[in-house]
Amino acid sequence: MTDHDHHTQDQTGNDQDWFLPKEARDRLQELFKGLEREVLVQVFTAPGLNDAYNEYVEKLLHDLQRINQRIRPEFHGLESEEAQNNNITSSPVLRIAPDRYDIRFTGAPVGEEGRSFLTALLLASRGDSGLSETSRAILGHLDQPRKAQVFVTPTCPYCPGQVLNAFRCAIERPELVSAECVEADEHPELSSKYNVGSVPHTVFNDGEYEQLGLLPEERFALELLGLKNAEELDARTEMDLPEAEPGEYDVVIAGAGPAGLTAAIYAVRSGLNTVVLEQGVIGGQVALTPMVENYPGFTSVPGKTLMEIMTDHARKYATVQEGEGVSDVTSQDGRLLCRTPRGEYSTKALILATGATYRKLGIPGEEEYLGSGVNYCASCDGYLYKSKRVAVVGGGNTALTDALHLKNLGIDVTVIHRRDSFRAQKHLQDSLQREHIPVLWNTVVEEIHGSNGRAHSVTLRDTTTGETRSLDLDGVFIAVGYTPHNELAQSLNLELDSAGFIKVDKQMRTNRKMVYACGDITGGVQQIVTAIGEGSVAAITAFEDITHPNWENAEQQ
Ligand code: NAP
Repeated sequence: MTDHDHHTQDQTGNDQDWFLPKEARDRLQELFKGLEREVLVQVFTAPGLNDAYNEYVEKLLHDLQRINQRIRPEFHGLESEEAQNNNITSSPVLRIAPDRYDIRFTGAPVGEEGRSFLTALLLASRGDSGLSETSRAILGHLDQPRKAQVFVTPTCPYCPGQVLNAFRCAIERPELVSAECVEADEHPELSSKYNVGSVPHTVFNDGEYEQLGLLPEERFALELLGLKNAEELDARTEMDLPEAEPGEYDVVIAGAGPAGLTAAIYAVRSGLNTVVLEQGVIGGQVALTPMVENYPGFTSVPGKTLMEIMTDHARKYATVQEGEGVSDVTSQDGRLLCRTPRGEYSTKALILATGATYRKLGIPGEEEYLGSGVNYCASCDGYLYKSKRVAVVGGGNTALTDALHLKNLGIDVTVIHRRDSFRAQKHLQDSLQREHIPVLWNTVVEEIHGSNGRAHSVTLRDTTTGETRSLDLDGVFIAVGYTPHNELAQSLNLELDSAGFIKVDKQMRTNRKMVYACGDITGGVQQIVTAIGEGSVAAITAFEDITHPNWENAEQQ
C-alpha cells in the first residue's frame, strides 16, 4: 500500500456514512494531494450556541480527516483549558495549525469561505505563505505585533481574497501576525462593535486602523505594516523593494470577467502564449449577480457558479492571476510593457476587458455612510440586513435582481425608481410583483441621513409633485448602472465615447495598434453573451494581427 492509499482508504466507505457528497469528496481527495505535513485543526464548540454551524464544522472535519489523515481535528468545549488559554468565547471557532500559526475562523467557514478554509489548510501544511517577493520584503520590515480581523459573509466573492491576504501574512511572520476570519452574520455583537455594514471589512490591531474591500496582496501587506492607508508608491520607494523579472507573452488580457476569460481560451487555442491579469476578483460583475436566467444552456444559475465554470475552463488554457491589475503600459522595442504591483509583462498584444464599476448617485450621505448603510453589492452585503428594512434604488435588471435576492434572504425591501416604468426585463418585473415587493415610482433619493456613523433614513422627493418626505431604513442598495473602468484606456490615450466607453471597430481593435477591447468596457448592451462574443473576436483579431500584420502592409501602400 502506498502512502497515499493509506491516507485515503476510507474513501470507499458507504455514502450514507459521509457528510460531504461524493463529488466534493473526490475533488478534495485530489486537492489534498498537495498536503505536505500534518495540519492540526482545533474545533471549539459549545452546545446551544449556533448549533447548526457547530454540527456543520464537526461533520466537515470528521470527513476531511477520513479523506486525508494529514488533516488532524481536535475537538474542544468552551470550558476547556485550551479555549480559555486562547480566549475563545464563541462557537464555533476553528484554529488552523495552532502549533505554528495564529490563524482562526470565528464562525463556520461556509459558502465562499470554504475556499479560504481549504487554501489555508494547504498553505499551513506547506509552511509557505505563497506571498510575492515584494510582499515578503514588505513584511520583513515588521517588528511589532499585528492582528488582522476580516469580517465576511458566506455569499461575498471578494471576501476569501482578503481573508487569504491576512492568513498569508500570518504564515509569513508567525511570530508577529495573527489573522482571523469573522463570519459577520454569526457574530452580530462583534460586527456592531466595528459597525460592519459592508464586507470584506478588515480591522487591524483591534480597531487602530480599518479598511473596506479587497486589497491587492502587496497593498494589504503595506497597510498591515503601516496601519494606515498606503501611499503605495512612496512606501515602495522608501523600502527599496525588489522588482520582478518581466515575463514574455504574446497576449496580456486585463480583466477576468466573461470577456477576458473567453479571450484567453480563444487566444491560447490559437497558439498564443497568454496571461490574464485581474485587479479584483475573477468573474467580474457576473460573479456578484445572485441569479442569471438568460445565459443559454442554463435556465437559472447563480452568477458565481457560472463564473466558476468559466474560470475552470479558462484555467485549463491560460494563467489567470487574481488581485493583480495592470497599472501602467509603455511601449518598448515594438512590444508593450504592462506593469502590475507584482511585476512586468512584456507582450505583443494587449486586450482590455476591464469592465465597468458601480455608478454612484452623487448625493449627500452616500460617501459618508458607505459600508454603514450604503451598499452597492447585494450578494456581498445582503446577509448583514436579515430581518431589517432596506431600499433598492434603480429600475434596471440589476436593481430588480438585487431586490429579489434581498427579499429571498428575509429582508423587508422596497424599490425606489425615478420614473413610472422599469427598464428591467418583463420576467424580472413579474417576479417582483409575485413577491409583493413594493415600488415607490417617480421617486428619487435626495439625501441619506444617519447618526453614530450609521445610515438610518433617506429624504425622498416625488418627481411629479416635488414633495419631499423622510423614510426610515436600515440600508440603501444603489443599483443605478455602471460606469466604465477606463483608467488604463485613458492612460493609453484610447479613443473613448462621450460616456467613457472604449471605441472599437467590428474586430474589437481600438485606435492603438495591438490594443483591443471587449466586454462591458466597450459599452453596448452589456450582456454576458455579448461580452463573450466580443472576447472571442478580440482574441481572433489579435491572432490575425500578430501572425499577419495587415496594417503594416496597409501603411506601406
Ligand atoms: P441600467 O440598465 O443602466 O439601469 C440603471 C437604472 O438606474 C435605470 O433604471 C435608471 O433609470 C436608474 N438610474 C440611473 N441613474 C440614476 C440616478 N442618478 N438616479 C436614479 N436612478 C438612476 O443598469 P443595470 O441594471 O445595472 O444593468 C447594466 C447592464 O447589465 C444592462 O445592460 C443590463 O441589461 C445588464 N444586466 C443584466 C442582468 C440580467 O439580464 N439578469 C442583470 C444585471 C445586469 P432610468 O430607467 O430612468 O434610466
